[in-house]
Amino acid sequence: MIQSIFRPGAIRIALLAALVSLAASVSVNAQIKTTKLSDSVHMLRGKGGNIAVSIGGDGVIMVDDQFAPASTAIADAIRAIDGRPIRFVINTHWHGDHTGGNKNFNALGATIVAHDNVRAEMIGRWFKDANGGFVDSNALPKITFSDRISFHLNGETVEIIKVPAAHTDGDAIVHFTGSDVLHMGDVFFNGLYSYFDGSSGGRFDGMIDALGIGLKISGPKTKIVPGHGGLADRGALKRHRDRLMIIRERTAEALAKGVSLDDFLASRPTRDLEDDFGAGYKVMAAEKFLSLVYADLKKAE
Ligand SMILES: [Zn+2]
Repeated sequence: MIQSIFRPGAIRIALLAALVSLAASVSVNAQIKTTKLSDSVHMLRGKGGNIAVSIGGDGVIMVDDQFAPASTAIADAIRAIDGRPIRFVINTHWHGDHTGGNKNFNALGATIVAHDNVRAEMIGRWFKDANGGFVDSNALPKITFSDRISFHLNGETVEIIKVPAAHTDGDAIVHFTGSDVLHMGDVFFNGLYSYFDGSSGGRFDGMIDALGIGLKISGPKTKIVPGHGGLADRGALKRHRDRLMIIRERTAEALAKGVSLDDFLASRPTRDLEDDFGAGYKVMAAEKFLSLVYADLKKAE
């Protein structure tokens, strides 16, 4: 999740500044809350993106690793469940609140795995210093994939599936098929507006499509780990997707009528959804989210 960056201009600097400030804000108190989701899969929550871990005879597979300052607390939380080695970290996308611990977990022996575009984004702007050299190549994914990749570990198949460009152009969702746990990455914020990062190829229509893929994969008992927010189920995922579809319809309608952004916002087009969206949706103000959607759909016209 990257907040407060909605102007396309100067986005790179703003993005880095936001990531750095977010990273600094968690260094003081990195507490991790662990929730057991199946015999082998747990959800870990802290200050960055939600983490899922599978732990079993083949070791530990993690999905995302939050910020670097939290790595010790995260590793301790995993060891508290089981002391087996962390073998793989899967990044759902490149944002620093999901990949900030890559270098630290690589140092603990983990291999980083992500979509091709995640590695490319990291090389392109996150891991290059002012002189164009790599800041730290150990933080980069060592294994990348294009459409999907499967792991056969800890007694189940773990499917990592690239979705259409949504939150970024490198989003993957991770399905622990035996445990029936689905990690949606930042394609899904539970109880929050879903931000999409246009500077990384994120697209609003892709968000809706990617949420639809999550809905297809999941069943009534699937435990769904959102990128941010609490544990969800298929019903919550569907409600979220449906709200985004309503927002899409209303925004497209305004664009078709030639309504300006200011007038569109002034009409408070999501007023009737505010209670349903919950308090979390006011954290990232409706106006900012609607501005993003308006600009994205206008671009596609
Ligand atoms: Zn993100």
